[in-house]
Amino acid sequence: MSGNWIHDVASRYRAATGSLPPVPTMTRPQPTAPLIASPFSRELHDLSRTPLAFEDQTLLDEALETLPLERLYSEAEHAAENDKVWGMQDHLIQALLKWFRNDFFTWVNVPSCTYCGGETAAIGGRAPTPQEQADGAGRVELYECKSCKTLVRFPRYGHPRKLLTFRKGRCGEWANCFTLLCRSLGSRARWVWCAEDHVWTEVYSETKKRWIHADSCETAWDQPRLYEQGWGKKMSYAIGFSVEGATDVSRRYIRTEGGQLPRNRIPESELVLTLRAITQERRLEFAASEKSVLESEDLAEERELQSYVNNTTPASTAELRPRETGAGEWTDARGENGRH
Ligand SMILES: [Zn+2]
Repeated sequence: MSGNWIHDVASRYRAATGSLPPVPTMTRPQPTAPLIASPFSRELHDLSRTPLAFEDQTLLDEALETLPLERLYSEAEHAAENDKVWGMQDHLIQALLKWFRNDFFTWVNVPSCTYCGGETAAIGGRAPTPQEQADGAGRVELYECKSCKTLVRFPRYGHPRKLLTFRKGRCGEWANCFTLLCRSLGSRARWVWCAEDHVWTEVYSETKKRWIHADSCETAWDQPRLYEQGWGKKMSYAIGFSVEGATDVSRRYIRTEGGQLPRNRIPESELVLTLRAITQERRLEFAASEKSVLESEDLAEERELQSYVNNTTPASTAELRPRETGAGEWTDARGENGRH
């Protein structure tokens, strides 16, 4: 099948579902220096640039060509026939979640020996080689085979281009690559960063008119209480970043007092200002009509998040499950095994 065929399917689908702001092709001005200088504010400004890497048309095309589109669309259409709750694009992302975890990406706690396939043990970190660096690896973990002593390098790629072919890692790599794939299918997607060492995705549902939690590591769709109530994870901040801005989505994921860690990295008022500054920067060149739509959405989301405060609706069965990726000692050490 030719590349054109794939693009035709995608653009027809995009046209049919009335999709979202096209990926900006013009070069945006370099971000200005953060207005607020506290370290956490600067960290948030840095993090907010992560999803900007997904907005590259060549990369989005590459991502789209990686996908088994026929299979994903047919699965989504089948699911949509029997369900009136979610829209077609929501079903498409759910099909993507399943394919991504079952057939595409691999979770790596500790890499196997590349020579004998045996178990390895971590022996520290190394600087990336020029090639690894060029492919977007910020750092490299080094392992030694317990039997044949072969050294195994495990580069941690932070850029999604290399991940389309490397296809392995931990939640950072998973969320990075999955969010890119959601964008390539025409969905609006956020990259959600949690201060307690986890990242995931949120996808905007045009049918539900709200942002939906999507965790590629766990094939989780709209299960925001999974971390707090399923894993027993304690969290302080969860911030969603996208090409449209930055939003404090903590209240969607942290709903009970017992699940909350102190929010003491920054005064709340400064956090609000920081996220507002990032959002303004992202929307700088958006048309007034587009900004106005986004502002209405912001207000609707604020009302939604407010509704979770002191809401005692029990979590769903799907949310009450321990962590699936990263088994045994690794999850035990992180307190994410569901044993509260
Ligand atoms: Zn070996």
